[in-house]
Amino acid sequence: MIKQTHCPGCNSADVKEFFEAQNVPVQSVVTIKTFEEAVAVPKKDFTLAFCKNCGFIYNSSFDTTIDHYTKGYEDQQGFSAIFTNFITRITQRFIDKYDINNKDILEIGCGKGDFLQLICELGNNRGIGVDPAYVPSRLKPNQNVRFIKEFYSEKHGELPADVIVCRHTLEHINDTGNFVKTIRKSIKNNKEVLLLFEVPSVVRILKINAFWDLYYEHCSYFSNRSLAQLFEMNGFEVLDTYTEYDDQYLFLEAKTGGNIRSKTRVKKETIEQLSEYIDDFVKNINQQLGQWHDTLLQMKKQNKKVVIWGGGSKAVGFLTHFNHLEVIGHVVDINPHIQGNYIPGIGIQYVNPAFLREYKPDTIIVMNGIYKNEISKELHEMNLSPELICL
Ligand SMILES: [Zn+2]
Repeated sequence: MIKQTHCPGCNSADVKEFFEAQNVPVQSVVTIKTFEEAVAVPKKDFTLAFCKNCGFIYNSSFDTTIDHYTKGYEDQQGFSAIFTNFITRITQRFIDKYDINNKDILEIGCGKGDFLQLICELGNNRGIGVDPAYVPSRLKPNQNVRFIKEFYSEKHGELPADVIVCRHTLEHINDTGNFVKTIRKSIKNNKEVLLLFEVPSVVRILKINAFWDLYYEHCSYFSNRSLAQLFEMNGFEVLDTYTEYDDQYLFLEAKTGGNIRSKTRVKKETIEQLSEYIDDFVKNINQQLGQWHDTLLQMKKQNKKVVIWGGGSKAVGFLTHFNHLEVIGHVVDINPHIQGNYIPGIGIQYVNPAFLREYKPDTIIVMNGIYKNEISKELHEMNLSPELICL
């Protein structure tokens, strides 16, 4: 694989690689029904590079020819009350902040359409979702919301849009510079359009050595520095950036045209700060992986029944490093649509929480600590009290 030696965000050649993982499954949320298919998912090297010009971090070994999104995938999060409360609060706050009522909302990469429906219901808005992987399915129909099963391109600028939303999509896009440029070009005549983007925050990953949040489907990793700079470079005015969800998610609000002005000066990390985070990550990541390796081996020696709670990409990110130890027996997920499926590249089958009633695990490794209370409550109701280790 030819390494990408120029930053996909700003095209600078001033990049350095700082982390490599080998044999990483190239997919993590694709729907797979058999063990054989799951373990046949190709594995490739994953290399993180840091651009010293704009602060962007990306997988410089990324293979852009892989089709990730047209074969069915499963990433709905709305089965958790904690998540539903979070997304409702964030959306209502965004509506109130910019008076987004009776407006046209366009969502790029809308998935199954949960968020688009929510913002349309809360603000009595009209919505169009553009996503090549959209599957008409699970939501109760809303006559104000429609979907277009395509990749976003310049022609979609003709669709009505007062607000463009794009959540958890940009980190899947390799050519971030051209993608944001396309969005800017699609907005004609300096029309006033507000943007809301949401991506995982790489700063948190670097600070806590969160290797489970590094996986192949995410080829682009943002700090508020690199995210803000990407939009500024392409002719947007950045209004605000902030993190939410225990600093896991990074938000950016930006605009074109019109009279909305930022009330606060957007604070950005400096390149020096980001370099320090990276230096610390490089210093500590092997120790972090080594400790987990030892902990899991210890559990194996003690014949402990260990399960992971929380499927999806984090479980793939975690098991990529430790599946060969054969310590984790099962992966639990509350999303009924993935139960019974097999984890891409790993081959473990998803089970539902009720499975634990019989299985009686000794230890549960929770892939996202934000759900700890929700999980504890569910275990308590099943009269289970395993050790919980939260990432
Ligand atoms: Zn760059």
